[in-house]
Amino acid sequence: MLHTAASLSRLGTESAFEVLARAQKLAAEGKDIINLGIGQPDFRTPEHIVEAGVKALRDGHHGYTPANGIPALRQAVAGDLEGRHGVAVNPDHVVVVPGGKPTMFFAILMFGEPGAEIMYPNPGFPIYESVIKYSGAKPVPIALEEANGFAFDAEAVLAQITPATRLIIINSPANPTGGVTPKAEIDRLVAGLKDHPHVALLSDEIYSRMLYDGREHVSLLQYPEIRDRLIMLDGWSKTYAMTGWRLGYAVWPEALVDHAIRLCINDHSCVNAATQYAGIAALTGPQDAVHDMVAAFDERRRIIVSELNQVPGFRCADAAGAFYAFPNIEGTGLTSREAQDRFLAQAGVATIAGTSFGAWGEGYLRFSYASSIDNIREAIGRIRACL
Ligand code: PLP
Repeated sequence: MLHTAASLSRLGTESAFEVLARAQKLAAEGKDIINLGIGQPDFRTPEHIVEAGVKALRDGHHGYTPANGIPALRQAVAGDLEGRHGVAVNPDHVVVVPGGKPTMFFAILMFGEPGAEIMYPNPGFPIYESVIKYSGAKPVPIALEEANGFAFDAEAVLAQITPATRLIIINSPANPTGGVTPKAEIDRLVAGLKDHPHVALLSDEIYSRMLYDGREHVSLLQYPEIRDRLIMLDGWSKTYAMTGWRLGYAVWPEALVDHAIRLCINDHSCVNAATQYAGIAALTGPQDAVHDMVAAFDERRRIIVSELNQVPGFRCADAAGAFYAFPNIEGTGLTSREAQDRFLAQAGVATIAGTSFGAWGEGYLRFSYASSIDNIREAIGRIRACL
């Protein structure tokens, strides 16, 4: 019998990958499956980005790079952030990592240990709660409510702070709800944090380019008063349809950046060089493909929200950002898990139970609309028939 660490039993997972595996198995058995479960753009990476990666390989960029990323890439990140958010960023505070996830893993491990408390959105990206538990810290949920547009309530967040609170995680636009937190609420949170100088903030802004109906992204980088305790996570996966390349970054506060780089050195050394060159092309090249993708998501979003609202027992709030719709399905009499399993088995439609994103997700189902309009219409039609 192997004697593994107790912490292993506290590690959760991301069920989207399990549902994907089940959907692929059913498809391999000849079933016609529409996958609205997985959260990745259904577009190819734009051609000029692919070419930059290929060229880097041909040019001989085959070795290690600096652990925090090649300087030209970190400069491109700083330039992009200045252009989009109007803030100055020191490229030496940018740490490039393989995707969005390593930043949250590192940030949570830096603050999490028995006795510490970390707040995280619920329903929210499942890795937050998983890694908080793994670290030994106490996960303190920030309940996100449909009635509040799935935005956090700053007063409620501030009221949960204790002397043991070390880190607060926020995510807007949000997975799985598509919720976008209004600027006034962020203003209130930042103002309230003045009274709690011991608390750090991780702002997961991976969907920062995906907002609809004229909404503008508010980056936490735009608040100079918290820059000394803010970790701002973003990346290429969603914006440039690059989930499989594994490329992301964070802007770290000065006090933490060396710890982040040391974690990189201990963990993965660096991101592979060719991907980093592709990342430069993504940020500095034409942005037409990004605009086209967001416009396509917007069209699908309107269609899926309207279709979902016509399913008996479903009620779907307006999806303000990202590429997810998160309908309330309580009227069907099914639990989230029952609905997920039934729609996959009987309708051939993969979705994700709201409870995969935390206990506050009960009664909801996540639909990714990163799929064609025909697929979306067909999938919702099948669910209606199945009910
Ligand atoms: N943060 C959020 C909120 C996400 O939804 C995801 C992916 O689904 C990530 C981070 C991780 O992105 P990556 O695939 O780049 O690790």
